[in-house]
Amino acid sequence: MAAAWAVIGLAGAAQAAACDRANFGVAIDPGHTAAEPGATSARGASELDFNDRLAARIAAALHGAGFERSFLTRRGAEAITLDERARLANARQARLFVSVHHDSAQPHKLQTWRWRGAARLYTDRISGFSLFVSRLNAEAQRSEQFARLLGARLLGACLHPTLHHAEPIAGENRELLDAAIGLYRFDELAVLRLTHMPAVLLEAGVIVNRADERWLRSAAGQQRLAAAVAAAVADLCEGRQAAAVADATPHASCR
Ligand SMILES: [Zn+2]
Repeated sequence: MAAAWAVIGLAGAAQAAACDRANFGVAIDPGHTAAEPGATSARGASELDFNDRLAARIAAALHGAGFERSFLTRRGAEAITLDERARLANARQARLFVSVHHDSAQPHKLQTWRWRGAARLYTDRISGFSLFVSRLNAEAQRSEQFARLLGARLLGACLHPTLHHAEPIAGENRELLDAAIGLYRFDELAVLRLTHMPAVLLEAGVIVNRADERWLRSAAGQQRLAAAVAAAVADLCEGRQAAAVADATPHASCR
Protein backbone atom coordinates (compact mmCIF):
# COMPACT_ATOMS: atom_id res chain seq x y z
CA MET A 1 0.00 0.00 0.00
CA ALA A 2 2.80 2.38 0.92
CA ALA A 3 4.58 1.57 -2.33
CA ALA A 4 1.41 2.29 -4.34
CA TRP A 5 1.05 5.67 -2.68
CA ALA A 6 4.67 6.48 -3.43
CA VAL A 7 4.11 5.70 -7.13
CA ILE A 8 1.00 7.87 -7.28
CA GLY A 9 2.88 10.65 -5.50
CA LEU A 10 5.70 10.54 -8.01
CA ALA A 11 3.33 10.50 -10.98
CA GLY A 12 1.52 13.51 -9.55
CA ALA A 13 4.78 15.38 -9.03
CA ALA A 14 5.92 14.61 -12.58
CA GLN A 15 2.67 15.98 -14.02
CA ALA A 16 2.85 19.10 -11.88
CA ALA A 17 6.41 19.75 -13.02
CA ALA A 18 5.35 19.35 -16.65
CA CYS A 19 2.96 22.29 -16.42
CA ASP A 20 4.96 25.23 -17.74
CA ARG A 21 2.50 28.06 -17.15
CA ALA A 22 4.62 30.72 -18.86
CA ASN A 23 4.44 28.75 -22.11
CA PHE A 24 0.86 27.52 -21.76
CA GLY A 25 -0.87 30.28 -23.73
CA VAL A 26 -4.65 30.26 -23.89
CA ALA A 27 -6.51 31.82 -26.82
CA ILE A 28 -9.48 33.57 -25.24
CA ASP A 29 -12.05 34.16 -27.94
CA PRO A 30 -14.65 36.87 -27.24
CA GLY A 31 -17.59 35.82 -29.42
CA HIS A 32 -19.14 38.02 -32.13
CA THR A 33 -18.15 41.36 -33.64
CA ALA A 34 -19.44 44.93 -33.54
CA ALA A 35 -21.15 44.29 -36.88
CA GLU A 36 -22.80 41.09 -35.59
CA PRO A 37 -23.12 41.54 -31.83
CA GLY A 38 -25.01 38.31 -31.05
CA ALA A 39 -27.96 38.02 -28.67
CA THR A 40 -29.74 40.94 -27.00
CA SER A 41 -30.18 40.82 -23.22
CA ALA A 42 -33.44 41.23 -21.29
CA ARG A 43 -32.49 44.88 -20.73
CA GLY A 44 -31.34 45.56 -24.28
CA ALA A 45 -27.55 45.16 -23.98
CA SER A 46 -25.64 43.25 -26.64
CA GLU A 47 -24.03 39.88 -26.07
CA LEU A 48 -20.84 41.36 -27.53
CA ASP A 49 -20.53 43.65 -24.53
CA PHE A 50 -20.95 40.77 -22.04
CA ASN A 51 -18.46 38.63 -23.98
CA ASP A 52 -15.84 41.39 -24.05
CA ARG A 53 -16.10 42.13 -20.33
CA LEU A 54 -15.85 38.48 -19.32
CA ALA A 55 -13.05 37.73 -21.81
CA ALA A 56 -11.02 40.62 -20.39
CA ARG A 57 -11.53 39.27 -16.85
CA ILE A 58 -10.51 35.78 -17.94
CA ALA A 59 -7.38 37.18 -19.59
CA ALA A 60 -6.51 39.08 -16.40
CA ALA A 61 -7.11 35.99 -14.25
CA LEU A 62 -4.90 33.85 -16.50
CA HIS A 63 -2.10 36.43 -16.61
CA GLY A 64 -2.37 36.72 -12.82
CA ALA A 65 -2.02 32.93 -12.52
CA GLY A 66 1.15 32.93 -14.62
CA PHE A 67 -0.34 31.97 -18.00
CA GLU A 68 1.40 34.99 -19.50
CA ARG A 69 1.12 34.03 -23.14
CA SER A 70 -2.66 34.00 -23.05
CA PHE A 71 -4.26 36.42 -25.49
CA LEU A 72 -7.58 37.64 -26.91
CA THR A 73 -8.48 36.68 -30.47
CA ARG A 74 -10.40 39.94 -30.97
CA ARG A 75 -10.01 43.37 -29.45
CA GLY A 76 -12.77 45.96 -29.32
CA ALA A 77 -14.53 46.76 -32.58
CA GLU A 78 -12.06 44.79 -34.70
CA ALA A 79 -13.71 42.69 -37.42
CA ILE A 80 -12.57 39.06 -37.47
CA THR A 81 -14.14 35.96 -39.01
CA LEU A 82 -14.53 32.62 -37.27
CA ASP A 83 -11.87 31.06 -39.50
CA GLU A 84 -9.46 33.89 -38.69
CA ARG A 85 -9.95 33.35 -34.97
CA ALA A 86 -8.96 29.71 -35.34
CA ARG A 87 -6.06 30.55 -37.66
CA LEU A 88 -4.75 33.14 -35.21
CA ALA A 89 -4.82 30.64 -32.34
CA ASN A 90 -3.06 28.04 -34.52
CA ALA A 91 -0.39 30.51 -35.69
CA ARG A 92 0.32 31.59 -32.11
CA GLN A 93 0.43 27.98 -31.01
CA ALA A 94 -2.10 28.40 -28.24
CA ARG A 95 -2.34 25.36 -26.00
CA LEU A 96 -6.06 25.80 -25.42
CA PHE A 97 -8.88 27.76 -27.06
CA VAL A 98 -11.80 29.06 -25.01
CA SER A 99 -14.60 30.81 -26.86
CA VAL A 100 -16.67 33.10 -24.63
CA HIS A 101 -20.37 33.62 -25.33
CA HIS A 102 -23.57 34.51 -23.53
CA ASP A 103 -26.76 32.63 -24.19
CA SER A 104 -30.28 33.31 -25.36
CA ALA A 105 -33.31 31.15 -26.17
CA GLN A 106 -35.41 30.45 -29.24
CA PRO A 107 -37.73 33.38 -30.10
CA HIS A 108 -40.94 31.51 -29.23
CA LYS A 109 -39.68 31.05 -25.66
CA LEU A 110 -39.46 34.80 -25.08
CA GLN A 111 -42.04 37.17 -23.60
CA THR A 112 -42.27 40.94 -23.71
CA TRP A 113 -41.76 43.36 -20.81
CA ARG A 114 -40.90 47.01 -20.60
CA TRP A 115 -37.53 48.23 -19.35
CA ARG A 116 -36.79 51.95 -19.22
CA GLY A 117 -39.62 52.71 -21.60
CA ALA A 118 -38.66 50.17 -24.25
CA ALA A 119 -40.28 46.81 -25.06
CA ARG A 120 -37.76 44.02 -24.43
CA LEU A 121 -37.76 40.24 -24.78
CA TYR A 122 -36.97 37.89 -21.89
CA THR A 123 -37.55 34.52 -20.29
CA ASP A 124 -36.98 33.75 -16.64
CA ARG A 125 -37.50 30.02 -17.22
CA ILE A 126 -34.10 29.28 -18.75
CA SER A 127 -30.96 29.81 -16.69
CA GLY A 128 -27.37 28.64 -16.41
CA PHE A 129 -24.14 27.93 -18.26
CA SER A 130 -23.44 25.44 -21.03
CA LEU A 131 -20.34 23.98 -22.68
CA PHE A 132 -19.78 22.84 -26.26
CA VAL A 133 -17.15 20.60 -27.83
CA SER A 134 -16.60 19.34 -31.37
CA ARG A 135 -15.57 15.78 -32.12
CA LEU A 136 -13.98 17.18 -35.30
CA ASN A 137 -11.45 19.15 -33.26
CA ALA A 138 -7.87 17.90 -33.68
CA GLU A 139 -7.72 17.21 -29.92
CA ALA A 140 -11.30 16.18 -29.31
CA GLN A 141 -10.47 14.08 -26.27
CA ARG A 142 -8.54 16.85 -24.51
CA SER A 143 -11.28 19.29 -25.49
CA GLU A 144 -13.75 17.14 -23.60
CA GLN A 145 -11.30 16.77 -20.71
CA PHE A 146 -11.08 20.55 -20.41
CA ALA A 147 -14.86 20.96 -20.75
CA ARG A 148 -15.33 18.48 -17.88
CA LEU A 149 -12.75 20.30 -15.76
CA LEU A 150 -14.44 23.62 -16.45
CA GLY A 151 -17.83 22.11 -15.68
CA ALA A 152 -16.53 20.82 -12.34
CA ARG A 153 -15.07 24.25 -11.52
CA LEU A 154 -18.31 26.03 -12.45
CA LEU A 155 -20.35 23.66 -10.26
CA GLY A 156 -17.78 24.20 -7.53
CA ALA A 157 -18.41 27.94 -7.89
CA CYS A 158 -22.12 27.28 -7.19
CA LEU A 159 -23.26 27.79 -10.79
CA HIS A 160 -25.74 25.51 -12.55
CA PRO A 161 -26.02 24.26 -16.13
CA THR A 162 -28.88 24.80 -18.57
CA LEU A 163 -30.21 21.86 -20.56
CA HIS A 164 -32.37 23.81 -23.02
CA HIS A 165 -30.02 23.19 -25.95
CA ALA A 166 -31.02 19.52 -25.89
CA GLU A 167 -34.72 20.25 -26.39
CA PRO A 168 -36.03 18.51 -29.52
CA ILE A 169 -36.97 21.77 -31.29
CA ALA A 170 -35.64 23.67 -34.30
CA GLY A 171 -32.44 25.55 -33.48
CA GLU A 172 -31.61 23.34 -30.47
CA ASN A 173 -31.62 19.52 -30.49
CA ARG A 174 -27.96 19.29 -29.52
CA GLU A 175 -26.54 16.00 -28.33
CA LEU A 176 -26.13 16.23 -24.57
CA LEU A 177 -22.89 14.55 -23.49
CA ASP A 178 -23.23 15.25 -19.76
CA ALA A 179 -26.35 16.74 -18.18
CA ALA A 180 -24.59 17.36 -14.85
CA ILE A 181 -22.41 20.05 -16.46
CA GLY A 182 -24.51 21.09 -19.49
CA LEU A 183 -21.96 19.63 -21.89
CA TYR A 184 -23.06 19.36 -25.52
CA ARG A 185 -21.61 18.07 -28.75
CA PHE A 186 -21.62 20.61 -31.61
CA ASP A 187 -19.24 19.27 -34.25
CA GLU A 188 -19.70 22.02 -36.83
CA LEU A 189 -18.83 25.04 -34.69
CA ALA A 190 -16.06 26.59 -36.81
CA VAL A 191 -13.81 27.81 -34.02
CA LEU A 192 -13.87 24.36 -32.39
CA ARG A 193 -13.49 22.43 -35.65
CA LEU A 194 -10.62 24.47 -37.13
CA THR A 195 -8.42 24.88 -34.09
CA HIS A 196 -5.42 22.57 -33.72
CA MET A 197 -5.49 22.63 -29.92
CA PRO A 198 -8.18 21.58 -27.40
CA ALA A 199 -11.13 23.95 -27.80
CA VAL A 200 -14.30 24.59 -25.82
CA LEU A 201 -17.11 27.10 -26.24
CA LEU A 202 -18.53 28.45 -23.00
CA GLU A 203 -22.01 29.98 -22.85
CA ALA A 204 -21.42 31.71 -19.53
CA GLY A 205 -25.09 32.30 -18.76
CA VAL A 206 -28.44 33.32 -20.18
CA ILE A 207 -28.67 37.07 -20.73
CA VAL A 208 -32.36 36.98 -21.67
CA ASN A 209 -33.04 35.79 -18.10
CA ARG A 210 -33.54 38.95 -16.01
CA ALA A 211 -31.88 37.68 -12.83
CA ASP A 212 -29.04 35.94 -14.65
CA GLU A 213 -28.42 39.07 -16.68
CA ARG A 214 -27.94 41.16 -13.53
CA TRP A 215 -25.52 38.63 -12.09
CA LEU A 216 -23.60 38.25 -15.37
CA ARG A 217 -23.33 42.04 -15.55
CA SER A 218 -21.89 42.29 -12.00
CA ALA A 219 -18.17 42.43 -11.28
CA ALA A 220 -18.61 39.67 -8.68
CA GLY A 221 -20.32 37.37 -11.17
CA GLN A 222 -17.72 37.94 -13.87
CA GLN A 223 -14.93 37.44 -11.36
CA ARG A 224 -16.37 34.14 -10.19
CA LEU A 225 -16.64 32.91 -13.79
CA ALA A 226 -13.12 34.07 -14.64
CA ALA A 227 -11.67 32.37 -11.55
CA ALA A 228 -13.40 29.12 -12.51
CA VAL A 229 -11.94 29.27 -16.03
CA ALA A 230 -8.45 30.02 -14.70
CA ALA A 231 -8.70 27.14 -12.22
CA ALA A 232 -9.76 24.75 -15.00
CA VAL A 233 -6.87 25.92 -17.20
CA ALA A 234 -4.47 25.14 -14.36
CA ASP A 235 -6.16 21.73 -13.94
CA LEU A 236 -5.62 20.92 -17.61
CA CYS A 237 -2.04 22.17 -17.60
CA GLU A 238 -1.29 20.07 -14.52
CA GLY A 239 -2.94 16.97 -15.96
CA ARG A 240 -5.83 16.68 -13.53
CA GLN A 241 -9.06 14.91 -14.36
CA ALA A 242 -12.51 16.31 -13.63
CA ALA A 243 -13.38 13.59 -11.12
CA ALA A 244 -10.48 14.68 -8.90
CA VAL A 245 -11.58 18.32 -9.11
CA ALA A 246 -15.21 17.46 -8.33
CA ASP A 247 -14.12 15.48 -5.26
CA ALA A 248 -11.95 18.37 -4.06
CA THR A 249 -14.59 21.06 -4.54
CA PRO A 250 -17.82 19.82 -2.98
CA HIS A 251 -20.64 22.24 -3.79
CA ALA A 252 -23.07 20.99 -1.19
CA SER A 253 -22.55 24.31 0.64
CA CYS A 254 -23.92 26.42 -2.23
CA ARG A 255 -27.37 27.01 -0.83
ZN1 LIG B 1 -22.86 34.04 -29.01
